[in-house]
Order: sequence, then structure tokens, then C-alpha cells
Amino acid sequence: MQNAVSGLNAARQSYPFKLMDRFGRKIEYLRLGVTDRCNLRCTYCMPPEGISCTSKEEILTFSEMERLVRLFVTLGISKLRLTGGEPFVRKDLIKFLWRMQSIPELKQICITTNGVLTAPLIPELKEMGLSGLNLSLDSLSDSTYKKITGQNQLQSVLQSFHQALQYKIPLKINTVIQPGLNFHEMIPLSRLAENNPVEVRFIEQMPFRGDHAFVPKGGSAKEILYRLRLEYPDMVKIQKSNSTAQGYSVPGFNGTLGIIAGYSRTFCNNCNRIRITPSGLLKTCLYDHGVVDLKQLLRSGCTDSDISSTISKAVINRSSNGFEAENKNTSALTHSMAAIGG
Ligand code: SAM
Ligand code: SF4
Repeated sequence: MQNAVSGLNAARQSYPFKLMDRFGRKIEYLRLGVTDRCNLRCTYCMPPEGISCTSKEEILTFSEMERLVRLFVTLGISKLRLTGGEPFVRKDLIKFLWRMQSIPELKQICITTNGVLTAPLIPELKEMGLSGLNLSLDSLSDSTYKKITGQNQLQSVLQSFHQALQYKIPLKINTVIQPGLNFHEMIPLSRLAENNPVEVRFIEQMPFRGDHAFVPKGGSAKEILYRLRLEYPDMVKIQKSNSTAQGYSVPGFNGTLGIIAGYSRTFCNNCNRIRITPSGLLKTCLYDHGVVDLKQLLRSGCTDSDISSTISKAVINRSSNGFEAENKNTSALTHSMAAIGG
């Protein structure tokens, strides 16, 4: 990371045209939460009864989202990921995706999905040139999958997996490791990367469950790495910039493995991403509580230039890392990942 002063000068020079924080980190990647609703109830993401969802009026409309995306593109964003909640439960998502595909400056458009509703949509996602699909899959056992997600939907997710492979949509698997539930499945899940050109990423559980503040216990990136190294002693680190996942190649594998230290937060130095929550809050760090109410700006008649300038200032003042962002919060982390747009 550059020092704060030279980073700030660089940011000022490019302001208001490109987003850069005072540490010299260029922001090029926007994650947009299109809904906080979901058809699953993953244990690490929500309490069993679900979260109290934002009312329809308080969720950004697709035209508001489009205005924001276009504005962020003028500020240098070139990669967009749609997430949620479950993006595919939002009506007309496909129409919105086609609108996004018509923005030439967006070099990559990706989706993170639980894969329950995705399989039948894969041909159209391929047709529109989707850059990648991240599929959440925490278990290959029907009963454990149901225990984790509350629904008996493993087979629908596997169908989405096979469809995406068949249509050659670049695929990543996200597995949140929960000791006692799926730690022992790391090797069977890794075999998906052995046999297919996919990246299987094991994620540390983070304290975003929407009910009460808690500290995740076990399943740290170190423990995950230790388990993988036991099985694959020849695996080798892959150097990638700006990825939250530390990738590993394993001799004989078609794909790769990855570890996301979301709780240990060892990747903040290279973080190039910001988020917009379904209710329109700008988050410059996963661990902040939202630093700008973009919906309020949009709905109070601000011009694009007003909004761009507010965004640029918020980005310049971004926290240096997730610990600093968390420490600045005046209340505990009690949001669900579904409301954050994880
Ligand atoms: N519903 C979609 C899905 O599950 O892929 C997209 C939204 S979900 C919030 C995005 C990603 O966040 C998923 O891969 C999920 O496993 C992960 N996630 C959710 N809650 C988490 C938590 N508390 N800790 C770590 N990862 C979490
Ligand atoms: Fe839904 Fe995704 Fe959260 Fe699971 S992780 S409850 S699928 S939003």
C-alpha cells in the first residue's frame, strides 16, 4: 500500500474522474445487492425465521440501480457483480442484466447465486456473455445441505453447476466452512476442482447473520490451509492481484482451490471493491455500516455530478482495512450478509 499522503495526492489528481482511496487503492469493482430476499436460510447468513426484509419502496428500483451503475462506470468501475440476497428471486433480473450488458465500459459482469433457480437460465446467461458465475455450495450431501440451508435443494444446485459447465460459463464455487457441519467435506468438494475447470473457494465464516453479534469459532483460513496441505502437499500459491481469495494450483487438477480469509481480513491491502446494498447504502468496506445513503441522494433530486462528488469523497476517506472500518462503527455488526450484498 502506498503511504497515505502520496495516495491522497494521486487520488486528488484524478478526482472526480476515477475512484481511488487515500492509500492509493484504485476502485474498479462494484458489488450490487439487488435484493435482500432469499429462498434459502443458510445458517451463517440468517436466523431460521429469516431476516426482516426491506420494504419494496425502500429497495432501489432497477432504473435507480442503472443510473448508479452508469455513474460508477464514469468513475472507473469496470467490473460489476450482482448479488443479494438471492439475485434470481428478484423479478425482471434478466431484463436488468441485458441493460447492464449494453454498457460497453463494463468489461466483466458476474453473478453470485445459490443456484437453486439458475439452471434453466444458463442458456440466456451464456447468450448475453455473462463473465462468470459464483455458485454457493456448502455440502455434497443432501442431508447436510438441508441442515445448512433449510431447504432440500442440493440437486437443483448441482444441475446449475453442470449446466454452467456445459455452457462454459466461468464458474467458481463458494463454500463457507462451518466446523461440525462441513469441514470434513473439504476434500470431496475439492474434487470438483480436480475433475472440472472450476475454482473451489473455502470461505471463513464472517459475523454477518442478521440476528446478534457473534464471533465465528473455528474454520479459520489457517485451519483450512492446513487441511488442504495435508491432502495436497504439492499445492502451490497462485499470485493474483486484487483477489480476496488466495488461490492454489494442485498438480493434476483441472481447476484450482482458493481460501477467502473474510474474517482474518488478510486481503485488505489490495481491496479494489465497493458495495451498494439493496437499500442503496454505499459501503466502502464490508465491515462498515454504510457510508453514503445513495438512495436518499437519488430521490432528493441530486445531479450526477453531486452524487459522483459525494462518492469520490467517501472513497478517498475509506478505512485502511476491515478492522479499522469495524472499530469506527458505533453499533455491533448485526446485519445479515443478504442485506449487505455479500
Ligand atoms: N444468495 C447468493 C448466494 O448465496 O450465493 C448471493 C448472496 S450471498 C450473501 C453471497 C455469498 O456470501 C455466498 O457465497 C455466501 O455463502 C456468503 N456468505 C453469506 N453469509 C456469510 C457469512 N456469514 N460468512 C461468510 N460468507 C457468507
Ligand atoms: Fe440466501 Fe445466499 Fe444468504 Fe444463503 S448465503 S441465505 S443463499 S443470501
